[in-house]
Amino acid sequence: MTNLVIVGSVALDTVKTPFGKVKDALGGAATYSSYAASFFAKPAIVGVVGSDFPKQHLQLLQQRGIDTGGVKVDKNGRTFRWEGYYEYDMNEAKTVKTELGVFANFKPQLPPSYKDAEYAFLANIDPVLQLEVLQQVRKPKLVLLDTMNYWINNRKRQLLEVVKKVDVLLLNDSEARQLFETPNLVKAAGAALKLGPRFVIIKKGEHGALLFSDGNHFSAPSYPLENIRDPTGCGDSFAGALIGYLASRNSGSEKDIRKAIIYGSVVASFNAEDFSLERMKRLTAAEIEKRYREFERMREF
Ligand code: AMP
Repeated sequence: MTNLVIVGSVALDTVKTPFGKVKDALGGAATYSSYAASFFAKPAIVGVVGSDFPKQHLQLLQQRGIDTGGVKVDKNGRTFRWEGYYEYDMNEAKTVKTELGVFANFKPQLPPSYKDAEYAFLANIDPVLQLEVLQQVRKPKLVLLDTMNYWINNRKRQLLEVVKKVDVLLLNDSEARQLFETPNLVKAAGAALKLGPRFVIIKKGEHGALLFSDGNHFSAPSYPLENIRDPTGCGDSFAGALIGYLASRNSGSEKDIRKAIIYGSVVASFNAEDFSLERMKRLTAAEIEKRYREFERMREF
C-alpha cells in the first residue's frame, strides 16, 4: 500500500538556458516531484507515456523506490513533450511548444493499492485529470495542488473546481496574480483561502516562498545559489520534497508545513544545479540535511 500518490506529467523536455541545452530529456511534473519526494517517502505515480518513452527512465524512478504501477504505456501515441527556454532571468520559463500527446486521451485508473493513500499531490497536468484522480482516493488527509499558466489559460473553470477540494494550493507569483486577477499577492492568497484551501503557498522563484493561512503568514528565503544551470523542475521538486516530508511526518500542521517548505527549497536548489534530473540523481540525504541547517542559520537575526 502506498501513502503518497502523485499525478502529473511524465515528459520528454527540450530545454535551452544560457548555460546549455538538452533535447528530449527526462522531465515532467510527476517525474521531478516523485523523485524529490523519494528522499523522504515512498511515492507512487499516476500518468501515461507513449511507446517512445525510454524504458530506462521508468527504471530510474523504480530504483529510487517510486511505485510506477500507475504509469500506463499507451502504444498509440507519443509521450507528452514540453519545449522551453530561459534567458538570463531564470525565474521565468518561456514555453515554445507543449504537445499533450498521450495525455490528451488519458483516463486515469488508480491501482487498488493507491486508493487508501493519505497524502496526494495533484501536480501540474490538466485539472480534469487531477480531479479524476482525487475522486479515486478514498480518504486523503492532505491534498496539495499545483498548476501553471497553460492550464489557467485553457481550463480556468475546472481548475477553480479543483482548488475548492484541496488543503494546500501552490502557485508561483505570476500564476497567483493571473488566477485571482489581482496584482497584489496578499489579495490573491486571500481569494484562494476563501475557496477552501487551509494554506496557500506562493513561490517567488529565486526569492523564496510565502505561506498564507487564516491570519498567519510565513516567509521562507531561497538558497543563494551561485551555480544555476537549469531551473526546470524546481517548482515540482519543491512540491515533491514538501509533500514527501509531510507524509514522512504524517502531519499537516502549520509548523511542519513551514519545515516542509524549507526542505522543498533545499531540494529545488539542488535541482537547479544541473539539467533534467542529473543533480538529483547524485543527491544524498546528508547533502539535504547540511543545506537545511544552512537555511536555519540564514534565518537567524
Ligand atoms: P517546473 O517545476 O514548474 O519548472 O515544471 C517543469 C516541468 O513541467 C517540465 O519538466 C515540463 O515537462 C512540465 N510541464 C510543462 N508544461 C506543462 C503543462 N502544461 N502541463 C503539465 N506539465 C507541464
